[in-house]
Amino acid sequence: MPRRPRRDPRRRPATAPPVAPAPGADVRVELAGHTVHLVALRAHPERYAAWFAAARRRPGHGICRCTRSGERLVIREIAGVFHLARWPLGGDNHRPGCPFFSSESRHSGTDPGARDAISVTDHGTRIEVGYAFTAPASGLEGDDDPAAAVDRPPAGRPAGAAHATLTSLGLLRWLWETAGLNAWPPPSGEVTAGPAREHRITGTRRHWEDTREALVAVLAGVRLGDHPAPRLAYVIAPYRPGHPDPVRDARLAEYLAPLEGPQRVAIRRGPRRGRTRLLRHRRLLIGELKHDPQPTDHGLRVDLRHFPRPLFCRTELGEHLTRSYPTAFASRRDPNTRRVVLALIEGTPHGHLRLLDAAVLLTTSDYLPVDSSHEALLAQQLVAAGREFIKPLRRADGDLTLPDFVLTDTDPATVVEVWGLTGRTDYDERRAAKLEHYAAEQTPVLEWDVSTGPPPDVHRPTPPSATSESWPPPSAGTAAARRADQGLRATASPTPRLWT
Ligand SMILES: [Zn+2]
Repeated sequence: MPRRPRRDPRRRPATAPPVAPAPGADVRVELAGHTVHLVALRAHPERYAAWFAAARRRPGHGICRCTRSGERLVIREIAGVFHLARWPLGGDNHRPGCPFFSSESRHSGTDPGARDAISVTDHGTRIEVGYAFTAPASGLEGDDDPAAAVDRPPAGRPAGAAHATLTSLGLLRWLWETAGLNAWPPPSGEVTAGPAREHRITGTRRHWEDTREALVAVLAGVRLGDHPAPRLAYVIAPYRPGHPDPVRDARLAEYLAPLEGPQRVAIRRGPRRGRTRLLRHRRLLIGELKHDPQPTDHGLRVDLRHFPRPLFCRTELGEHLTRSYPTAFASRRDPNTRRVVLALIEGTPHGHLRLLDAAVLLTTSDYLPVDSSHEALLAQQLVAAGREFIKPLRRADGDLTLPDFVLTDTDPATVVEVWGLTGRTDYDERRAAKLEHYAAEQTPVLEWDVSTGPPPDVHRPTPPSATSESWPPPSAGTAAARRADQGLRATASPTPRLWT
């Protein structure tokens, strides 16, 4: 049986625009085990009709070889002539430059503004963030307004310059998505076809250490403005009592050193060149909230797991976070969920760490991002059922058109919608519009209206021969049976739909 190409979410270019339009001439595609140049195929499709027909019978798709693992392609027949088309949701799995590549994934939440803040250079990915990593040390006591700290343009840019920047939340979501942390199963390890694969997927858990490693790997190739991200951002390494870790301790000490107090820095440009000024440094910290922020005499105390120092912030910032992330700070939050924080911090004159700004990501215990406790419950069941799925992440607030999850182990992909609110007109209207859109596109939908009871059965539909009440109902017909037999799930539409 031909191996189903595995999609590696880590390799996905995510939001990165194509580096340079490479000619599609060197792209080869595979049809039923035969490899051929795409340009030849497009010039004379009739010569390859037998291969097309064979590939459509089994495995039911073509394969683009622009990546090492290969990306599935839809085979369609129009008036007796075969064509290849991009797989639904698959555009951003292709190498930039491949004719099937698309950064405009239907399920990517990237908005144009966020995309402008991210650019790909010879040295990796450059991201513009909306705050500076140094600030004048004068007026230390009075100048601690968090809003003032985060609204400044990046260092080196004149104030007021029109420039797209990523917010803390945008950066956190970008990191999560680029690290493949919004995809399940985890990308690490070779997962092969067959029963072992099923076992591997259902037996997999993702721990903070795995999450940290994935984030560190992404950050290694990122510059925040002019600075290498690893110098500015620290992903908290696990602390294990009784297990000394000199590497961790050294990295932590190196990270904390600039935050211990203001530093005298030489001025390199302008009329005051050659003199020095006092600067305090700011750094990013990525870790998991230990518990809700605790009130103190002067504001709030924020503790992160595995991090030895508390962060302090003003009560106003705590209130702002509670308002901005209501599900993460809800009193009825699912105790199995976790809250990952990307924090902008600086040292105070008294030797404390001050929290200036933070973004919060609510996740499952496997660090899959979710928007609600209901989504968390469903995601946990999808993991338990061994499903493959992604959680599309928004880059812009107010973008509500993304599905809650996308199951990538069905053909075509199945969207998952968790309907948590009822009786609100705007929500009901949006729900109706979404369902109408999916129906028009013949996209299979797995729905859970939380007001009607527990989640539906999320196991993969069984082949038509078996009796089952699972969703969706088994389709009749030999085509559906054959596809189910191959482990490609039978769905409502026997022919893969085309998203080109
Ligand atoms: Zn390709």
